Amino acid sequence: MSQVPDHILQRLRTCTSFPTPPAVAMQVLQLAQDPEIDLGKVAEAVSVDPAIAAKVMRIANSAMYARRRQSTNLRQALIVLGLNATLTLALSFTLVSALKKNSTKGFDFNAYWRRTVLASAWGKLLASETGRRDAEEIFLAALLQDLGMLVIDKIWPEVYEGIAPFKIEHSRICQHEQNCIGTDHRSIGAALLRIWNMPESLVRAVQHSHDPSAAGVDGEEKPFVRAVAMSGELSDVWLGSHNEVALRRVGQQAHRYLGIQPNRLGELFDAVREQLPVAEELFQMELFDAAQLQDITDAAQETLIVRNLYQINANEEAQQEKHALEKEHRKLKTETIRDVLTNAYNRRHFENRLGAEFKACADSGYSWPLSLIFIDLDKFKDVNDSHGHQAGDAILKAVADLLVETLRDSDVVARYGGDEFVLLLPGVDTDKANIVAQRICAAVRTRKATIGADRQVGITLSLGVATCDAEHRFENAQALLAAADSALYQSKRSGRDRFTLYDKTEAA
Ligand code: GH3
Ligand code: MG
Repeated sequence: MSQVPDHILQRLRTCTSFPTPPAVAMQVLQLAQDPEIDLGKVAEAVSVDPAIAAKVMRIANSAMYARRRQSTNLRQALIVLGLNATLTLALSFTLVSALKKNSTKGFDFNAYWRRTVLASAWGKLLASETGRRDAEEIFLAALLQDLGMLVIDKIWPEVYEGIAPFKIEHSRICQHEQNCIGTDHRSIGAALLRIWNMPESLVRAVQHSHDPSAAGVDGEEKPFVRAVAMSGELSDVWLGSHNEVALRRVGQQAHRYLGIQPNRLGELFDAVREQLPVAEELFQMELFDAAQLQDITDAAQETLIVRNLYQINANEEAQQEKHALEKEHRKLKTETIRDVLTNAYNRRHFENRLGAEFKACADSGYSWPLSLIFIDLDKFKDVNDSHGHQAGDAILKAVADLLVETLRDSDVVARYGGDEFVLLLPGVDTDKANIVAQRICAAVRTRKATIGADRQVGITLSLGVATCDAEHRFENAQALLAAADSALYQSKRSGRDRFTLYDKTEAA
């Protein structure tokens, strides 16, 4: 589980510009933890705040809950909804209205609420579909899964500046947040909920909200976390890429992790569509366009029901066999993506990753930057000549290790060939790439590669940096690579042991 650094935790505890849940909601939450609690007491607590009381009445009488007859007082409403559901819903609606007021410039709040309100509707539906009794808890967790993004936007507004976070594939946002502040919205959201004394199950669901397999969660809690994570996946498919590949993927996930058959999932798309106007009404937000809702429902039904993909329905045995093969394949793949001498990635793997990352950058309309750094050791032939080839090998290995240590896990460090290395830095803009290049030069200068037990050889590097972003677009991945290479050449020409940022105007 990724950790939130102490200084950020401190910020969360003391940040006064971020709303805390209203007092009534907190009291209601505390009451919920008392097994002896009676409805009268809850009704009393809720009625202290007329806005919450009115909300609870509206929910009880809404199409989501109302059964045979309308409730005319709070006590009846509580009976219709059930105690736990009332508490959770009261909390979620008051939190949303507190957070809604919090808008700043730049961040697309509409896109934020579209994703989370949609996810909450999915969460509730998946819960009832899988026979769970805690549908409201799942609803709340799904609604709050991206809470950390509101916090990040409030405290570090520059993180989302210019990157349109809801146009990027959702899991990539975490990578970007990590690059900027050293943690991500899942961990920050979970930390804030913990500070608010929310139930641990909610905290864990938010922390693991990007993992529909719930791999890092204890057995009993898996279904809860899976339903929340799937609510996010389904919302993304709905809002972004409702193409056949994406639908097929969520179809498989829903089957594997929640046991929902693809054709049934297709029907659920229709059920969610019907619930959305109710959710919009309750949250008092206008978020969805009716035509768009119809489009996705049609696409889902076409892919999941009409074609009724038999691959998805394949029996468990075939699935297991497939998993075993995939595992074997992954193992073989690791062996073929590394350079034997340095254990950095090899050139082929780098080229594959470059293609994928360049596409992600172009697909985001160049708002998700991609930086590439080309590196070549200086006068390396001389090192080989004076110290021998084996010593040269040890230096190449030491340089690769140093690069891996200096960069983040999400960056790709590859040996391009001979004494050349390439670094791929997804989500890193020109300024940050500049800092990375500086850091590498400095690290190599201070830490001389050690050869054997006692001899040290001072080596230096030349670097060329190129970034593809909205201001500096490249036609394709090869053009970006060529740009970094030409910047490297510039570094060599100006005396080595330095980095050069690619400048199109100069190069032309
Ligand atoms: P420059 O500053 O211009 O880059 O000078 P250089 O001597 O480093 O020239 P260049 O990059 O063209 O030469 C690369 C040298 O790297 C050639 C070869 O001796 C050495 N080399 C390439 N692969 C290996 C290897 O696997 N092990 C060792 N020890 N040396 C290698
Ligand atoms: Mg060289």
